[in-house]
Amino acid sequence: VIEAVGLHKSYGTLEVLKGLDLSLERGEVVALIGPSGSGKSTFIRCLNMMEIPTGGTIRFRQKAVSERFHDKGEELGIGTLRRHVGMVFQHFNLFPHKTVLQNVTEGPTVVCKRPKREAEELAMDLLAQVGLAEKHATYPNHLSGGQKQRVAIARALAMEPEVLLLDEVTSALDPELVGEVLAVIRGLADKGMTMAIVTHEMAFAADVASRVLFLDKGVIAETGTAEEVILNPQNPRLQGFVARFK
Ligand code: ATP
Ligand code: MG
Repeated sequence: VIEAVGLHKSYGTLEVLKGLDLSLERGEVVALIGPSGSGKSTFIRCLNMMEIPTGGTIRFRQKAVSERFHDKGEELGIGTLRRHVGMVFQHFNLFPHKTVLQNVTEGPTVVCKRPKREAEELAMDLLAQVGLAEKHATYPNHLSGGQKQRVAIARALAMEPEVLLLDEVTSALDPELVGEVLAVIRGLADKGMTMAIVTHEMAFAADVASRVLFLDKGVIAETGTAEEVILNPQNPRLQGFVARFK
């Protein structure tokens, strides 16, 4: 459903991504692991063109995505790509002056012009799905980190994305709050959501991902099933990396 072909990204003279290829099939969950600075965030930000690649192509629904906002001819625009590819970050970026419910209905009503009632129904379903229906009238600063992150996931889901990109969504959380967020992601995987997940939670990656990519210095240094990459790594740098998270 989404594809990166020969993806390059440089910041000035710093070459961060050195030709990455990835094809995410519908319903597939891919985990991206790798050392700090290896380019994981840059890679998934390029996947929805939040960062514009300096080389290579992103393809979505079998079409190349251009740097233009709107679709034109055979090329999809960035607007279309972002509309269907959701993203959740390490820091939740909820609107502090809006309630939980308003945070979740914002996208559907403002971007998709859906009627308020309909957006609220959808939002309440999603809040129930992440276990927060009873918090719908609360403001974000009255929530725990884990609850905020679950609202952020519900907000991304409210756009009914075809693909969800998650960048270290549990890294800023207290350890006791990690489990509730991972459980929500696990539930999405079980429902067939297509996802690319950057994570340092090796056990979780091994459990949820159909495929694991080890990114090292801007290249995909190893790829395979969780069994192969996490539980039984061959590449010496990967062995060292995985051992640190055991
Ligand atoms: P972490 O595990 O710490 O989140 P990461 O694998 O996500 O690391 P990236 O954030 O993708 O790594 O960064 C890869 C490299 O690109 C780093 O050397 C970083 O300093 C550099 N970089 C990222 N964003 C920018 C930017 N906007 N301008 C310049 N350099 C950047
Ligand atoms: Mg990162």
